Amino acid sequence: RTVYVNGAFVPETEAKVSVFDRGFLFADAVYEVTCILDGKLVDFEGHMARLRRSLDELKMASPATDEELLAAHRKLAQVNNVKEGLIYLQVSRGEADRDFLFPPEGTAPTLVMFTQEKSLLAGPSVDKGLKVMTADDIRWRRCDIKTVQLLYASLLKNEAKANGVDDVWMVLDGMVTEGSSNNAYIVTQEGNIVTRPISNDILAGITRASLMRCAEEHQIKIEERSFTVEEAKAAKEAFTTSATGMVVPVVEIDGVALGDGKPGQVAKRLREIFIQFSREKAI
Ligand code: PLP
Repeated sequence: RTVYVNGAFVPETEAKVSVFDRGFLFADAVYEVTCILDGKLVDFEGHMARLRRSLDELKMASPATDEELLAAHRKLAQVNNVKEGLIYLQVSRGEADRDFLFPPEGTAPTLVMFTQEKSLLAGPSVDKGLKVMTADDIRWRRCDIKTVQLLYASLLKNEAKANGVDDVWMVLDGMVTEGSSNNAYIVTQEGNIVTRPISNDILAGITRASLMRCAEEHQIKIEERSFTVEEAKAAKEAFTTSATGMVVPVVEIDGVALGDGKPGQVAKRLREIFIQFSREKAI
């Protein structure tokens, strides 16, 4: 594989980042994951807009313009011949002698990018639906910033696997926040979609924003409000969204099957609508 490091396209075995990089030492870094469908980028502008916001919130310098980032994304997908998969992008504050304080003279940000081939359109989790368990959301309260501090999410995914389920929905003050790496939704008996409003407690999913547009265009009502685990267990259906998962049905929460325990109609329909919408808009 060819990877991208600070302006250079190099074989992955030759790519280097300093051991003093603040991303490595302090998780002082932000990231984005953009999907590739049919060799094209899905929602590139949305991901770059969120990257700018994450950088601004952490007062981190921007490593490149949107035009440069677009060119780099396209070149990386092309040289690695990825038609379906993703591009991971990470910006860290860069290299400095280890200190909690940022160096007064500033640092040059470190920008790395790599591709991953991945089957996005087909997959067992889509056909069977996900089983999820719930766990306390003990993350810091700036989950709106897409930082690389993913240790808790990683621990939860491993806990899910050990418990024979697929993922975890996190709960704060009795209300579901989001999945370990996705946004969480339930469908009411009336067929409305319920999802938590945007705040510092969740990541504003780029897929979430597109999904809401799709739902509106197809006259599916959205209730932006928090919901409890009990309400979720009694829901008609549930699903998650993320760039790489797109729309994935949830069929079980803490051992309680939703409906008939099979992927729901609303989730399946929204997945189809979303895929078509993404393909049409991809650049
Ligand atoms: N919430 C969390 C915690 C995530 O890590 C992600 C994606 O990685 C999402 C939500 C979904 O965001 P997006 O749709 O932009 O991929």
